Amino acid sequence: MIRKAAGDLTTAKYVIALTGAGISVESGIPPFRGKDGIWEKIDPMEYAHIDAFMSDPGKVWDVLIRGMKDVVDQALPNDAHKGLARLEELGIIKTIITQNVDGLHQAAGSTDVIEFHGNFAWQSCLDCGRRCPTRTVEMDRLPPRCACGGILRPECVFFGEQIPPRHLSRSQLLAMQCDIMLVIGTSATVQPAATIPIISKQSGARVIEINTEPTPLTHSVSDYLIAGRAGEMMHRIVTEVERKKRQG
Ligand code: NAD
Ligand code: ZN
Repeated sequence: MIRKAAGDLTTAKYVIALTGAGISVESGIPPFRGKDGIWEKIDPMEYAHIDAFMSDPGKVWDVLIRGMKDVVDQALPNDAHKGLARLEELGIIKTIITQNVDGLHQAAGSTDVIEFHGNFAWQSCLDCGRRCPTRTVEMDRLPPRCACGGILRPECVFFGEQIPPRHLSRSQLLAMQCDIMLVIGTSATVQPAATIPIISKQSGARVIEINTEPTPLTHSVSDYLIAGRAGEMMHRIVTEVERKKRQG
Protein backbone atom coordinates (compact mmCIF):
# COMPACT_ATOMS: atom_id res chain seq x y z
CA MET A 1 0.00 0.00 0.00
CA ILE A 2 2.85 2.38 0.85
CA ARG A 3 4.53 1.58 -2.47
CA LYS A 4 1.24 1.92 -4.34
CA ALA A 5 0.58 5.35 -2.78
CA ALA A 6 4.15 6.51 -3.53
CA GLY A 7 3.72 5.38 -7.15
CA ASP A 8 0.37 7.16 -7.49
CA LEU A 9 1.79 10.37 -6.00
CA THR A 10 4.88 10.32 -8.19
CA THR A 11 2.90 10.09 -11.42
CA ALA A 12 0.10 12.48 -10.39
CA LYS A 13 -0.13 15.98 -11.82
CA TYR A 14 -2.21 17.78 -9.23
CA VAL A 15 -2.38 16.52 -5.66
CA ILE A 16 -4.46 18.15 -2.93
CA ALA A 17 -4.54 17.04 0.71
CA LEU A 18 -7.44 17.26 3.13
CA THR A 19 -6.36 16.92 6.75
CA GLY A 20 -8.16 16.61 10.08
CA ALA A 21 -7.44 16.36 13.77
CA GLY A 22 -5.87 12.89 13.40
CA ILE A 23 -2.80 14.31 11.63
CA SER A 24 -1.91 16.28 14.77
CA VAL A 25 -2.42 13.44 17.28
CA GLU A 26 1.27 12.49 17.07
CA SER A 27 2.05 16.13 17.93
CA GLY A 28 0.18 15.67 21.21
CA ILE A 29 -3.10 17.37 20.23
CA PRO A 30 -6.13 15.17 21.00
CA PRO A 31 -8.79 14.73 18.26
CA PHE A 32 -12.47 15.44 18.82
CA ARG A 33 -13.86 11.96 18.13
CA GLY A 34 -12.53 8.44 18.55
CA LYS A 35 -10.13 7.13 21.14
CA ASP A 36 -9.07 9.79 23.70
CA GLY A 37 -11.17 12.34 21.79
CA ILE A 38 -12.16 15.55 23.55
CA TRP A 39 -15.84 14.77 22.96
CA GLU A 40 -15.57 11.70 25.17
CA LYS A 41 -15.13 14.15 28.05
CA ILE A 42 -17.19 17.22 27.13
CA ASP A 43 -20.33 17.95 25.12
CA PRO A 44 -19.55 19.89 21.92
CA MET A 45 -22.85 21.73 21.86
CA GLU A 46 -22.26 22.88 25.40
CA TYR A 47 -18.80 24.26 24.70
CA ALA A 48 -17.94 24.56 21.02
CA HIS A 49 -21.14 26.15 19.74
CA ILE A 50 -21.07 29.90 19.12
CA ASP A 51 -24.25 30.29 21.20
CA ALA A 52 -22.47 28.67 24.15
CA PHE A 53 -19.53 31.03 23.75
CA MET A 54 -21.70 34.13 23.49
CA SER A 55 -23.85 33.21 26.47
CA ASP A 56 -20.97 32.25 28.79
CA PRO A 57 -17.52 33.04 27.30
CA GLY A 58 -15.79 32.58 30.66
CA LYS A 59 -17.00 28.98 30.89
CA VAL A 60 -15.95 28.12 27.32
CA TRP A 61 -12.53 29.70 27.92
CA ASP A 62 -12.15 27.75 31.13
CA VAL A 63 -13.22 24.32 29.88
CA LEU A 64 -12.26 24.24 26.19
CA ILE A 65 -10.03 27.11 25.08
CA ARG A 66 -7.63 27.14 28.03
CA GLY A 67 -6.85 23.43 27.51
CA MET A 68 -6.42 23.92 23.75
CA LYS A 69 -4.08 26.84 24.35
CA ASP A 70 -1.92 24.70 26.63
CA VAL A 71 -1.49 21.90 24.07
CA VAL A 72 -1.32 24.06 20.92
CA ASP A 73 1.31 26.39 22.48
CA GLN A 74 3.58 23.35 23.01
CA ALA A 75 2.88 21.38 19.82
CA LEU A 76 5.42 20.87 17.05
CA PRO A 77 4.85 19.49 13.54
CA ASN A 78 5.26 15.72 13.21
CA ASP A 79 6.40 13.57 10.28
CA ALA A 80 3.00 13.84 8.59
CA HIS A 81 3.07 17.66 8.50
CA LYS A 82 6.72 17.55 7.46
CA GLY A 83 6.02 14.91 4.81
CA LEU A 84 3.30 17.07 3.21
CA ALA A 85 5.67 20.06 3.20
CA ARG A 86 8.32 17.88 1.52
CA LEU A 87 5.80 16.75 -1.11
CA GLU A 88 5.13 20.43 -1.84
CA GLU A 89 8.89 21.01 -2.22
CA LEU A 90 9.02 18.11 -4.67
CA GLY A 91 6.27 19.77 -6.72
CA ILE A 92 3.73 17.04 -5.94
CA ILE A 93 1.31 18.69 -3.49
CA LYS A 94 -0.26 21.98 -4.54
CA THR A 95 -2.52 22.91 -1.63
CA ILE A 96 -3.55 21.60 1.78
CA ILE A 97 -7.13 22.03 2.92
CA THR A 98 -7.13 21.59 6.69
CA GLN A 99 -9.88 21.40 9.24
CA ASN A 100 -7.29 21.94 11.95
CA VAL A 101 -6.73 25.21 13.71
CA ASP A 102 -3.30 24.41 15.16
CA GLY A 103 -1.09 26.04 12.47
CA LEU A 104 1.19 22.99 12.27
CA HIS A 105 1.14 22.73 8.46
CA GLN A 106 2.57 26.24 8.13
CA ALA A 107 5.04 25.51 10.94
CA ALA A 108 6.27 22.51 8.91
CA GLY A 109 6.81 24.72 5.85
CA SER A 110 3.69 24.23 3.71
CA THR A 111 2.96 27.52 1.94
CA ASP A 112 -0.56 27.11 0.55
CA VAL A 113 -2.86 26.07 3.39
CA ILE A 114 -6.61 26.69 3.40
CA GLU A 115 -7.69 26.85 7.04
CA PHE A 116 -11.28 25.77 6.71
CA HIS A 117 -12.08 26.31 10.36
CA GLY A 118 -9.90 29.36 10.92
CA ASN A 119 -6.95 29.27 13.25
CA PHE A 120 -6.20 29.27 16.91
CA ALA A 121 -3.05 31.37 16.70
CA TRP A 122 -4.96 34.65 16.86
CA GLN A 123 -7.65 36.18 19.06
CA SER A 124 -9.87 39.06 18.17
CA CYS A 125 -11.85 41.44 20.35
CA LEU A 126 -15.64 41.11 20.14
CA ASP A 127 -16.01 44.88 20.60
CA CYS A 128 -13.24 46.68 18.68
CA GLY A 129 -11.92 43.83 16.50
CA ARG A 130 -8.31 44.35 17.59
CA ARG A 131 -6.24 41.16 17.14
CA CYS A 132 -3.55 39.64 19.32
CA PRO A 133 -1.58 36.37 19.24
CA THR A 134 -3.08 33.62 21.43
CA ARG A 135 0.36 32.95 22.89
CA THR A 136 0.45 36.40 24.53
CA VAL A 137 -3.00 36.20 26.14
CA GLU A 138 -2.95 36.46 29.95
CA MET A 139 -5.00 33.66 31.46
CA ASP A 140 -5.27 34.87 35.04
CA ARG A 141 -8.82 36.21 34.57
CA LEU A 142 -11.28 34.48 32.27
CA PRO A 143 -12.55 35.39 29.79
CA PRO A 144 -9.46 37.35 28.77
CA ARG A 145 -10.12 40.90 27.64
CA CYS A 146 -8.75 43.38 25.16
CA ALA A 147 -7.33 46.74 26.32
CA CYS A 148 -10.76 48.24 25.44
CA GLY A 149 -12.53 45.86 27.85
CA GLY A 150 -14.07 43.67 25.12
CA ILE A 151 -13.94 39.89 25.33
CA LEU A 152 -11.38 38.00 23.23
CA ARG A 153 -12.38 35.09 21.00
CA PRO A 154 -10.19 32.71 19.02
CA GLU A 155 -10.30 33.17 15.25
CA CYS A 156 -11.67 29.64 14.80
CA VAL A 157 -15.02 28.73 13.34
CA PHE A 158 -17.33 27.58 16.15
CA PHE A 159 -20.17 25.14 15.50
CA GLY A 160 -23.10 27.26 14.32
CA GLU A 161 -20.80 29.64 12.41
CA GLN A 162 -20.19 29.73 8.66
CA ILE A 163 -17.06 28.53 6.92
CA PRO A 164 -15.63 31.62 5.17
CA PRO A 165 -17.27 31.38 1.70
CA ARG A 166 -13.97 32.07 -0.14
CA HIS A 167 -12.38 29.03 1.59
CA LEU A 168 -15.32 26.84 0.74
CA SER A 169 -15.48 27.84 -2.91
CA ARG A 170 -11.71 27.54 -3.46
CA SER A 171 -11.67 24.11 -1.78
CA GLN A 172 -14.53 22.88 -3.94
CA LEU A 173 -12.75 24.09 -7.05
CA LEU A 174 -9.49 22.37 -6.06
CA ALA A 175 -11.43 19.21 -5.25
CA MET A 176 -12.70 19.20 -8.84
CA GLN A 177 -9.29 19.96 -10.38
CA CYS A 178 -7.04 17.50 -8.56
CA ASP A 179 -6.14 14.04 -9.78
CA ILE A 180 -5.36 12.76 -6.28
CA MET A 181 -7.08 13.74 -3.06
CA LEU A 182 -5.01 12.61 -0.08
CA VAL A 183 -7.27 12.45 2.98
CA ILE A 184 -5.37 12.26 6.27
CA GLY A 185 -6.68 11.87 9.81
CA THR A 186 -10.22 13.03 9.38
CA SER A 187 -13.35 11.18 10.47
CA ALA A 188 -15.08 12.81 7.48
CA THR A 189 -18.16 13.57 9.53
CA VAL A 190 -18.03 17.36 9.90
CA GLN A 191 -19.81 19.12 7.01
CA PRO A 192 -19.05 20.69 4.62
CA ALA A 193 -15.43 19.44 4.78
CA ALA A 194 -16.62 15.86 4.49
CA THR A 195 -18.01 16.47 0.99
CA ILE A 196 -14.60 17.58 -0.40
CA PRO A 197 -13.34 14.02 -1.09
CA ILE A 198 -16.73 13.12 -2.58
CA ILE A 199 -16.45 16.01 -5.07
CA SER A 200 -12.97 14.76 -6.05
CA LYS A 201 -14.20 11.22 -6.52
CA GLN A 202 -17.11 12.38 -8.67
CA SER A 203 -14.69 14.45 -10.76
CA GLY A 204 -12.59 11.38 -11.51
CA ALA A 205 -9.76 11.77 -8.97
CA ARG A 206 -8.21 8.98 -6.98
CA VAL A 207 -8.93 9.28 -3.24
CA ILE A 208 -6.27 7.91 -0.88
CA GLU A 209 -6.97 7.80 2.83
CA ILE A 210 -4.53 7.59 5.73
CA ASN A 211 -6.22 6.87 9.04
CA THR A 212 -5.80 4.56 12.00
CA GLU A 213 -9.42 3.44 11.50
CA PRO A 214 -11.87 3.10 8.60
CA THR A 215 -14.19 6.11 8.11
CA PRO A 216 -17.50 6.62 6.28
CA LEU A 217 -15.40 7.29 3.14
CA THR A 218 -13.44 4.07 3.34
CA HIS A 219 -15.57 1.60 1.46
CA SER A 220 -17.49 4.01 -0.72
CA VAL A 221 -15.37 6.99 -1.73
CA SER A 222 -11.72 6.10 -1.06
CA ASP A 223 -9.84 4.01 -3.58
CA TYR A 224 -7.81 2.62 -0.70
CA LEU A 225 -7.01 3.16 2.96
CA ILE A 226 -3.49 3.15 4.34
CA ALA A 227 -4.27 1.98 7.85
CA GLY A 228 -1.87 3.42 10.38
CA ARG A 229 -0.63 6.51 12.14
CA ALA A 230 -0.29 9.54 9.89
CA GLY A 231 3.29 10.46 10.87
CA GLU A 232 4.63 6.97 10.47
CA MET A 233 2.79 6.27 7.20
CA MET A 234 3.73 9.63 5.64
CA HIS A 235 7.37 9.14 6.57
CA ARG A 236 7.39 5.81 4.75
CA ILE A 237 5.50 7.15 1.73
CA VAL A 238 7.77 10.19 1.33
CA THR A 239 10.92 8.04 1.66
CA GLU A 240 9.60 5.85 -1.15
CA VAL A 241 8.64 8.87 -3.31
CA GLU A 242 12.17 10.30 -2.88
CA ARG A 243 13.66 6.94 -3.88
CA LYS A 244 11.50 6.85 -7.01
CA LYS A 245 12.42 10.45 -7.89
CA ARG A 246 16.15 9.66 -7.54
CA GLN A 247 15.72 6.71 -9.87
CA GLY A 248 13.96 9.07 -12.32
P1 NAD B 1 -12.10 13.98 14.27
O1 NAD B 1 -11.65 14.20 15.67
O2 NAD B 1 -13.55 13.90 14.00
O3 NAD B 1 -11.46 12.62 13.74
C1 NAD B 1 -10.11 12.30 13.92
C2 NAD B 1 -9.76 11.19 12.93
O4 NAD B 1 -8.37 10.95 13.02
C3 NAD B 1 -10.45 9.86 13.23
O5 NAD B 1 -10.95 9.34 12.02
C4 NAD B 1 -9.32 8.99 13.79
O6 NAD B 1 -9.49 7.63 13.45
C5 NAD B 1 -8.12 9.56 13.10
N1 NAD B 1 -6.84 9.41 13.80
C6 NAD B 1 -6.58 9.42 15.14
N2 NAD B 1 -5.27 9.32 15.38
C7 NAD B 1 -4.66 9.24 14.16
C8 NAD B 1 -3.29 9.14 13.75
N3 NAD B 1 -2.27 9.11 14.62
N4 NAD B 1 -3.05 9.08 12.42
C9 NAD B 1 -4.07 9.11 11.50
N5 NAD B 1 -5.36 9.21 11.84
C10 NAD B 1 -5.65 9.29 13.16
O7 NAD B 1 -11.40 15.10 13.41
P2 NAD B 1 -11.85 15.90 12.14
O8 NAD B 1 -12.39 14.98 11.12
O9 NAD B 1 -10.74 16.80 11.83
O10 NAD B 1 -13.11 16.80 12.56
C11 NAD B 1 -13.22 17.41 13.79
C12 NAD B 1 -13.11 18.92 13.91
O11 NAD B 1 -12.24 19.07 15.00
C13 NAD B 1 -12.42 19.68 12.84
O12 NAD B 1 -13.38 20.51 12.33
C14 NAD B 1 -11.32 20.55 13.53
O13 NAD B 1 -11.62 21.92 13.36
C15 NAD B 1 -11.45 20.24 14.98
N6 NAD B 1 -10.21 19.89 15.73
C16 NAD B 1 -8.99 20.38 15.39
C17 NAD B 1 -7.86 20.01 16.11
C18 NAD B 1 -6.52 20.59 15.71
O14 NAD B 1 -6.45 21.70 15.22
N7 NAD B 1 -5.43 19.83 15.86
C19 NAD B 1 -7.96 19.12 17.17
C20 NAD B 1 -9.24 18.63 17.52
C21 NAD B 1 -10.35 19.02 16.77
ZN1 ZN C 1 -11.14 45.70 21.99
